[in-house]
Amino acid sequence: MLTDNIGIFTERGGTIGFLLSKKEIVVIDSQFPDQSKHLIDELKKRSEKPFKLLINTHHHGDHTAGNISFKGIVEHVLAHANSKINQENWAKQNKAEDKQLYPDKTYTDTWSKKFGKEKISLHYFGPGHTNGDSFIHFEHANIVHCGDLVFNRRHPFVDRAAGANMKSWIEVLDKGMNKFDKETKYVFGHAGTGYEVTGKSDDLKKFGDYLGSVLKFVEGEIKAGKTKDEILKATAIPGADEWKGDGIQRPLQAAFEELTAV
Ligand SMILES: [Zn+2]
Ligand SMILES: [Zn+2]
Repeated sequence: MLTDNIGIFTERGGTIGFLLSKKEIVVIDSQFPDQSKHLIDELKKRSEKPFKLLINTHHHGDHTAGNISFKGIVEHVLAHANSKINQENWAKQNKAEDKQLYPDKTYTDTWSKKFGKEKISLHYFGPGHTNGDSFIHFEHANIVHCGDLVFNRRHPFVDRAAGANMKSWIEVLDKGMNKFDKETKYVFGHAGTGYEVTGKSDDLKKFGDYLGSVLKFVEGEIKAGKTKDEILKATAIPGADEWKGDGIQRPLQAAFEELTAV
C-alpha cells in the first residue's frame, strides 16, 4: 500500500495500481491473465466492494492481457482512444481477439471522475512510449501512475509501430512534471534491477535526460558516418550511466529510425 487506500501490485508485467474506495474498486492495468486473477483474489480479501473501473495506461500486453480476467466483474474499462485502437490492431494481427477485454470508454485529452474522497484524472500529452499513453493522477493522494512513460533506470521499449516518438516523449515528461508538483509520488511501469517502481519528479527528469542522451548519441554517430548496425553495437549511452542491462538496442534502433525518417 502507498496510502491507506491506494496500492500497487507487481508479479509479472507492468506495475498495477489500485484504489479501494468506500464504495468501489478502481484498478490501473492488469498484467497477464494469471496475474490479474491473483490480483482480483487479493483485492477481494481486502474489500467487498464492486470493481467499478479498470483503466489501461496503454495497450501493451503486459498491461492489458489480464483485462480478460475482469470480464463480467468490472463495470467499465477506460483508456486513451489510441490505446483502444492499438489494442484492437494488435489482437487482430495476432489472432488474439477472443482473449481481449477492450475499453468501452475512451478519452482524448483529459478525463476526471470522483471516487469517494479521491478524484482520478487522466492526462494525454502526446506520443511517447506509444501514441496512447496516459498519466493517471490520484489528485487527493497526489500519486501519478505513469505506465510505461517511465522506465526507471531501464532501457525502454519504444513502440514506433504504435506511434511512439522519442522527441515527443521528452516533451510529454516535461508536461507531466509541469502539471504535477514536487510532492507528487510517481508509479512507474517498469524499473531496472535494484531500482524501485515508485519515485519522484527527479526520476522523470532523469528519464527525459536519458532519452535526450540516446538521441544525441545516435545523431552524433549518424553524422560520423556510422551505419545502423555499427550504432546498435553500443553497450552504453554517454551521459546516462544509470541505464544498464538488457535492451539497449531497442532505444538505439528507435532513435536511428526516428532521426533518419523522411
Ligand atoms: Zn510495460
Ligand atoms: Zn508498454
